[in-house]
Amino acid sequence: MLGAMAVRRVARIVSGQPTSDGAGVRLNRVIGTPALDHLDPFLLLDEFRSDRPGDYLAGFPDHPHRGFETVTYMLAGSMRHEDHAGNAGELVAGSVQWMTAGRGIVHSEMPRQKDGLMWGFQLWVNLPARDKMTAPRYQDIPPERIPEVALGDGATARVIAGEVAGVRGAVEGIVTAPLYADVRLGPGARATLDVPSGHSACAYVYEGGARIGPEPDATHVEAGRLAVLGDGDRVSVAAGDAATGLLVLAARPLREPIARYGPFVMNTREEILQAMDDYRSGRFLAGKDR
Ligand code: FE
Repeated sequence: MLGAMAVRRVARIVSGQPTSDGAGVRLNRVIGTPALDHLDPFLLLDEFRSDRPGDYLAGFPDHPHRGFETVTYMLAGSMRHEDHAGNAGELVAGSVQWMTAGRGIVHSEMPRQKDGLMWGFQLWVNLPARDKMTAPRYQDIPPERIPEVALGDGATARVIAGEVAGVRGAVEGIVTAPLYADVRLGPGARATLDVPSGHSACAYVYEGGARIGPEPDATHVEAGRLAVLGDGDRVSVAAGDAATGLLVLAARPLREPIARYGPFVMNTREEILQAMDDYRSGRFLAGKDR
């Protein structure tokens, strides 16, 4: 394969777009915008980060999902989630929730705090046609169950999914074989992660600034920006003078048609209409008894 045995280069840098979702939560949307509709199989990436309660207090009251997975990773603050089937829990700082919505869930995600910093990410990962109507599944991972690996001088990674330096992530059994790593670099530190050739990959810098790609032609990427990576079997990242944090994400692309309407992501328009009809007539709620 062309990209084999190569450090992935930055193919494109995408700026996030300030937006508002749920009942009025301000966030930075990085995937799922006119600039980057999707990066197969990633459908959406949002960063929410604010210490102004007015930016997050309204939360995400009851809403449905069908046909994909939502991944919530918290850096600060805490949210409570609750669904129609009686599943509930707290998403605290450092925890991750990987929710396979499958054929449908209706849930709420609401801040537990009245003030202070709320900071985290939500990623949407598509499901292949054959799994879109699978039973809903949660993987709620507390902070202490996310392995942290040293990647050399001043570099560590929290391994949420996939494998980094031989360490398996906390989330298991996801069909697109994703890598989700939170990489922390001290000033001047460098790290290299293996990423399967042929998988889509990107890196979102949430703090500091990183040089990404093979030296000497690495590309500088500042906080709030996403680097879409070309093919290769490794990702190389280095911090500048500031401590740097970035999410490295990769997964096997599905290469299937995408029909998308708000919280429903299917393969055809007919399936979207069916999802809307099922939701309106309460068939998502009936699902809890199946
Ligand atoms: Fe949701």
